[in-house]
Amino acid sequence: MSATPAWPPKSAPRLFVETRLEAGLHLPVEGQQAHYLGKVMRIAPGDAVMLCDDLTGEWVARVAEVGKRAVILEVERRTRPREDVPDFWLCAALLKKPNFDLVLEKATELGTGRVVPVVTRRCVADKLNPERARTIMIEAAEQCARTALPGLGEATRLDHLLRNWPRERVLFFADENGGMPVAEAFAAHKGAAAVLVGPEGGFDEAERAAIRAHPAAVAIALGPRILRGETAAIAGIALWMGLNGDWKP
Ligand code: SAH
Repeated sequence: MSATPAWPPKSAPRLFVETRLEAGLHLPVEGQQAHYLGKVMRIAPGDAVMLCDDLTGEWVARVAEVGKRAVILEVERRTRPREDVPDFWLCAALLKKPNFDLVLEKATELGTGRVVPVVTRRCVADKLNPERARTIMIEAAEQCARTALPGLGEATRLDHLLRNWPRERVLFFADENGGMPVAEAFAAHKGAAAVLVGPEGGFDEAERAAIRAHPAAVAIALGPRILRGETAAIAGIALWMGLNGDWKP
């Protein structure tokens, strides 16, 4: 007996689109995405493409036509509903561009619900291009087959972030000067959470005092070594996901 090859194949290209998906929809894909499908992935009529709209979930579509400018896809059926995203935010101080790009990519892969870029006194960068940031997150979501995109907050000053903090969300403050061991802290505070990580030069004393004084804040230590901001962010997310997030079967 010969096994029927699985359809859609695991290797099918994945794309997030801005249109709400439904069965039977003819969807023209243009620009970068058409280039990716046609020139990079070399898709041909009949091939499968996996689509996500960040609303309804994941769908399989068949390539109907590969044109010079556009690729026409025909949406067939939904393969997965949009995933439930754990209620976890990463509040990360802006870092030098390549490092913050890494944080955006890894936060997406690890399952973060929302990324809030934070501006602190020692931040070298104080701006973020939201379109670029979105592109990085979308590519990471496509690569790891997420069916939901993380939200992206506006770059927010630390004092503003603290002043407007939603009371019911615990703010785990990654403090390189010491705090609760992280596994203990995460076990003691289940539910909606965020991890706050500082920039290359850390938080200054006044900032540390303000964060520690905040009623939602719980200072956590990520081990005995001083980590780079990007490492602390990635480690913090991974630990939270493993202990309180969606990594459990
Ligand atoms: N102030 C330090 C470096 C800051 S590291 C210096 O200049 O020497 C950047 C950020 O990573 C910190 O603000 C903190 O949020 C986080 N971080 C690094 N190591 C950490 C640790 N061991 N525990 C908790 N947070 C840590």
